[in-house]
Amino acid sequence: MAKIQMKSPIVEMDGDEMTRVMWRWIKDELILPFVDLKTEYFDLGLSERDKTSDRVTVDAADATKRLGVAVKCATITPNAAQVKEFNLKEQWKSPNATIRGTLDGTIFRAPILLDCVTPAIPRWTKPITVARHAYGDVYKNIEQRAGGVVIQTLHNTEKSIYAFAEACFNYALDTKQPLWFSAKDTISKIYDGTFRDIFAETAAKYPSVDYFYTLIDDAVARVIRSDGGFIWALKNYDGDVMSDMVSTVFGSLSMMTSVLVSPDGKYEYEAAHGTVSRHFQRYRDGETPGTNPVATIYAWSGALRKRGELDAASLSEEWRGESALAVFADNLEKAVIDTLSSGIMTGDLAGISSIKTETVNTLEFLSAVRARL
Ligand code: NAP
Ligand code: MG
Repeated sequence: MAKIQMKSPIVEMDGDEMTRVMWRWIKDELILPFVDLKTEYFDLGLSERDKTSDRVTVDAADATKRLGVAVKCATITPNAAQVKEFNLKEQWKSPNATIRGTLDGTIFRAPILLDCVTPAIPRWTKPITVARHAYGDVYKNIEQRAGGVVIQTLHNTEKSIYAFAEACFNYALDTKQPLWFSAKDTISKIYDGTFRDIFAETAAKYPSVDYFYTLIDDAVARVIRSDGGFIWALKNYDGDVMSDMVSTVFGSLSMMTSVLVSPDGKYEYEAAHGTVSRHFQRYRDGETPGTNPVATIYAWSGALRKRGELDAASLSEEWRGESALAVFADNLEKAVIDTLSSGIMTGDLAGISSIKTETVNTLEFLSAVRARL
């Protein structure tokens, strides 16, 4: 079989521990046999970040700005104990924070739904995507205690709010979904009022996006009563709290897609979970653990689909057609869903599934997906 060709490369950021092991397995089983893969490879594993004094992370972020599409493996954000354990030069900051800083992005997280896993709120039959602003609020506050009084000062910048709004409308356009934004502008007339006004101003530039603003307490009630199928944009703190609620209702972090979108249309796809250290310890002891690879597979399919779509869109109209790479990404996701729907799944899902299941380890799961693909 001829392999699918790529017109231009994507940025590939390798990572740490169990997800680094799965990264290799996913490429070998599900990508390389079918696609003539073109990537610019950056090793964001902790030892390489330390060796290059984190230069490799900055280079990977710059490459994403240049190439427009990236796929990232989960990485260790070292704590104080790990600085000692691995004899690091410094306590390197989170690669995600560095990449976000360069791309100036918004994070979109959407659940991957299965018929055999009923959300804790059963009427949520369509996904709810949380779009979280990643700047300011309580995360960059100033607090003090003065006598019997506690004081807190928050700030945000109009530049960052405009970038947030642009990313949300771009994503809504891209995924053809309605966009909701909610805040407390009746009480916070200047701070939250600025968010509301900037979103309204941006909405006027995107007339084809179905946009809806409401007070956050009204939004919470409407979200619970809804059947899903929209993007919910939230300020940093609200998004932190609400994304944990939404992901818990839908099931698990290993069944969640995550993409960072910049206002100028650059995309970085990742899994929402970490490096799964506890499973990696077992892997090193010789076991093949049942780590769920679905979120990491979807990071790859998301990046390949976006690459295919962007490359197809750059052709003149008469040559433009369906991108073979995008079709491959659709088929890969379909093979994953078919496998899970037939009851073949890792232990984390078997525990919450309503059908009879065959619990498998990661390699067995990947080969079942490959057989269908
Ligand atoms: P974690 O890697 O997400 O794992 C926490 C627990 O969640 C695991 O022990 C496992 O539970 C379960 N889990 C997570 N992903 C799973 C999967 N794909 N399949 C099955 N079970 C899964 O979080 P952590 O242990 O707190 O963090 C480990 C490292 O990841 C840290 O160094 C942290 O800095 C880093 N991290 C990176 C990112 C990122 O790069 N985006 C995000 C978060 C954390 P059981 O053990 O009960 O099976
Ligand atoms: Mg949180």
